[in-house]
Amino acid sequence: MSSDQEPVKTICPYCGVGCGIQVQPGDEPGDVQFMPWGDAPVNEGRICIKGGAATEVVDHEDRLTDPLLRDDNGEFREATWEEAYEYIVDELERIREDYGPDAMGFFASSKVMNEENYLLQKLARRYGTNNVDNCTRMCHASTVWALRTSLGAGAMTNSMRDLREECDLFWIQGANPGEQHPIANSQYFRQAVLEGATVIQVDPHANKTTRSFQIDDTDRHQHLQLNPGTDIPLLNIVLKTILEHHADHPDDGWIDEEFIAERTEGFDHLKATLADFDKEAAAEECGVPLEAIELAAEKYATADNAAIFTGMGMSQHACGVDNVQNEINLALITGNLGRAGTGVNPLRGQNNVQGTCDVGAMPNVLPGYQLVDDDEARESVEDVWGFEIPDEPGLTNVEISYEAGDSVKGLYVMGENPVMSEPDANSVADRLGDLEFMVVQDIFMTETAEFADVILPATTWAERGGTVTNTDRRVQRMRGVGKVHENTKHDREILTEVGMRLFDEGFDFDDPEEIFEELRQVCPSYHGMTYDLLGEEGLHWPCYEPGDEGDPFLYEDEFETESGLGHIEGVEHTPPAETPDDEYPLILTTARLEEHYNTGTMSTRSPTLNRQTPENFVDVHPEDAERYGIEDGEYVRLRSRRGEITLEAHVTEATKEGVVWTTPHFAAASANKLTNHVLDERAKIPEYKAAAAEIDVDIEPVDRAAGDD
Ligand code: SF4
Repeated sequence: MSSDQEPVKTICPYCGVGCGIQVQPGDEPGDVQFMPWGDAPVNEGRICIKGGAATEVVDHEDRLTDPLLRDDNGEFREATWEEAYEYIVDELERIREDYGPDAMGFFASSKVMNEENYLLQKLARRYGTNNVDNCTRMCHASTVWALRTSLGAGAMTNSMRDLREECDLFWIQGANPGEQHPIANSQYFRQAVLEGATVIQVDPHANKTTRSFQIDDTDRHQHLQLNPGTDIPLLNIVLKTILEHHADHPDDGWIDEEFIAERTEGFDHLKATLADFDKEAAAEECGVPLEAIELAAEKYATADNAAIFTGMGMSQHACGVDNVQNEINLALITGNLGRAGTGVNPLRGQNNVQGTCDVGAMPNVLPGYQLVDDDEARESVEDVWGFEIPDEPGLTNVEISYEAGDSVKGLYVMGENPVMSEPDANSVADRLGDLEFMVVQDIFMTETAEFADVILPATTWAERGGTVTNTDRRVQRMRGVGKVHENTKHDREILTEVGMRLFDEGFDFDDPEEIFEELRQVCPSYHGMTYDLLGEEGLHWPCYEPGDEGDPFLYEDEFETESGLGHIEGVEHTPPAETPDDEYPLILTTARLEEHYNTGTMSTRSPTLNRQTPENFVDVHPEDAERYGIEDGEYVRLRSRRGEITLEAHVTEATKEGVVWTTPHFAAASANKLTNHVLDERAKIPEYKAAAAEIDVDIEPVDRAAGDD
């Protein structure tokens, strides 16, 4: 590698917006610099703090550079790749022989490219289990479930570009694009608002999204600061307000009767659900004035094109599927689907979480969301793969973790960190310690890798090529500058080697394009894509045949449900599993920061990002601070029924009285030591967004340099 090498065009490794960036190799391996990509299709050269700092981790001193095996004393020692592969294959074969294939779990990764996730889920199925999942379980499993069953596809119905151009009203609920999807927010949504669109934000926390839309003195920004876990009653107020107005003023068109009649089913169920619904009592429960919610309902119903944006504030609840279903109800009764500038749009977190689901790294679906228990679909994939696929859905990743040491004896983890990312993290760590065998392939030592028997050093995002799929279904190519550390391997190299050693066939791919060529054979919505056709612009799925341009918005003519109709279904309020009581009188809710990312594996090692926020903190409302005697900046102990963390209190009106707000990014004081593992019963997503908590003050002084826990 030398400095006269051309920069390569690739995609930012952090969030799902899919910004294009360039990586300029330097004189030495690892000497890589960020460069803007001026005409990148999504971001047109703009970049947020994370994208600009992304190259900082490529040659970080903490990189894993050689395979590690745990020795008889429980310590890690360096090993050869040959030793590591032999050990892995022996253990995989032993576990299958002793306990059957469902005793293994496989964790795919949304940080990893489509080709690699495709290989991992194929490996799991060839091994004989559907126990394969990815971190969408923790972020948008409920959204995917609701969108797939009620509309057809578990993805954004529209694209950022058509929303910027055509959307008149942005309804942003439980999402914080100002911080989590900064370029989507600044370049698309805020731009539309500057040009006249309205924004309704529904969120318990006042955040950068709130501030980004406080423009001039217009009344085109409304923030409904509801109590955590009251999204269903709030949306039911909106729905009932629209129904009531339509009953009195049918000519105002708040409801789209023609759309409901021709393109939906279930409207009567919604009306029956809301018949006795008490708006005043519900507003009280939400902690938002009824008139404010009614005003927001009027704005949504009277906009020409209204689009809903939904985030983890909606999905990460035990009623996550119902939360998103109620957003779908709102869009369907007002006819805000199937055209530009409308829709129900989940803003996906990690840069390839959409693609990881698309390629079948989930326990109930094969590539292209074909159900594993649909005989015809399964057989069509079997025809290409040449082996039988188990026909029962497998365990989700949270279920796998909870079965660790019981029915699950072994775990294959690619680029995930469940000890940090799953709720009730202390008990996850305990159970992973009970496994008979765990392999982790990653770029850094993680809290999860500490429990592994073998650790495989992988390459970073900047070193290899492949494809990723962004939040609006755009499949884009990533290109690499080559390996920084000689003895590391690309994830796909590891998986092809393990696959060939186990099965002798089906995994002998030389490069990512060969893998993509097989993927497109079994994934109908990617069938029309090739590396050449993806080019630099990428393509939105569905793209069924070569030459298809891909759809910027879905469902123009019909929904992709069995009946072809959009499914309306009234939902009733389910309070969070834990509500405040005498012992734990506060509601704890969690969210991410702009300058950090998920479990912090990369972002806390990035000097630029870590300088902004080097440790965790908790937002406490001034009234609560006064009641507890907390000074701004003081360290407090925050605890729930599952654990405790020590962190700095920020006294601020950003949070509501009675609600404490913190983040999951920092290992020493991760919110996930406190969060509740109760699951949505259909989507199996945990309820990260609401738990009962208590604060202790007057604790031991904290040594900042030594960490806080
Ligand atoms: Fe990367 Fe997302 Fe920032 Fe774009 S908005 S630069 S994809 S983190």
